[in-house]
Amino acid sequence: MEIRFWGTRGSLPASVTAKIIRQKVQSALEIAQEKGFGSGSDIEAFIDNELPFWVKGTYGANTPCIEIRDGDDLVLCDAGSGLRDFGNHLLRSYGKASPKDFHIFLSHLHWDHIQGFPFFIPAYVKGNCVTVYGCHKDMSKAFSVQHGSPFFPINFKDLGADIHFVVLSPGKTYDIAGFRVTAKEQNHPGKSYGYRFERDGKIIVYSTDSEHKTESDEDFSSFVDFFSSADLLIFDAQYTLIDAWTIKEDWGHSNNLIGVELAQKAGVKHLCLYHHEPVSSDKDLDRFLQGTRKLASHQKEGVQLQVSIAWDGMVVEV
Ligand SMILES: [Zn+2]
Ligand SMILES: [Zn+2]
Repeated sequence: MEIRFWGTRGSLPASVTAKIIRQKVQSALEIAQEKGFGSGSDIEAFIDNELPFWVKGTYGANTPCIEIRDGDDLVLCDAGSGLRDFGNHLLRSYGKASPKDFHIFLSHLHWDHIQGFPFFIPAYVKGNCVTVYGCHKDMSKAFSVQHGSPFFPINFKDLGADIHFVVLSPGKTYDIAGFRVTAKEQNHPGKSYGYRFERDGKIIVYSTDSEHKTESDEDFSSFVDFFSSADLLIFDAQYTLIDAWTIKEDWGHSNNLIGVELAQKAGVKHLCLYHHEPVSSDKDLDRFLQGTRKLASHQKEGVQLQVSIAWDGMVVEV
């Protein structure tokens, strides 16, 4: 099974500016100063092995969208601006043979989680079928409001694909697109929902826009159950611990420390930090990952937790 991240930024897209690129080039040249490169492959090896990720890459700009692919079944979580890149990638890769059935699970209806849909080209193609699942009853209304005057030039009802909305009940398990799927209510303004996907003994949990209160034992144990034995946990770690406990308390997001605690208690194998703060630079996010790995390394029992941080384009095999 392959999980591909198309959008990993929280709240709003964050573009990479010319100034940021210049800083990256300058840092790369400073690190390379003492090197004598013999060939193009020497330069490639230098980039791969010696430059930090914040210099040679970027975590990206797009708002939340991930793809879970197992064979032909195509499942997505959230429809942020990353959905546009996903649709374009499919058309480029497959042309007319592009997949026709799409299953999109929505965490909630905040704009950063639905704003990619008007730019999702497969929704305009006759013969395609898009099913949107979520636990908010007003999904269909939210989609048609953003997809029409005065926000957008094309009305939702004029889209070519068959588009359906399916309202799920949290706590109930459904068989959808080859997966056993269970939704769980999360603490977020207007509520959000996490999804646990199970298939052939593999477990993936998508849990974004969710604030965990350390003082609430009930919240803690119910999420330990929900995350239990996950091969991959995609977790909202938008804030640092200080932010989460001070000015950004009750803003509906979590921090990396509670992510590590929950993942270790739940016996998760791989924790992936997600929904990045838009003001965080690539360098900040590199440091955030290193700090979180240090926290996770203090684990005394059980399987050592693998920790990564999502970037637009990252692929994880489960
Ligand atoms: Zn969000
Ligand atoms: Zn939100």
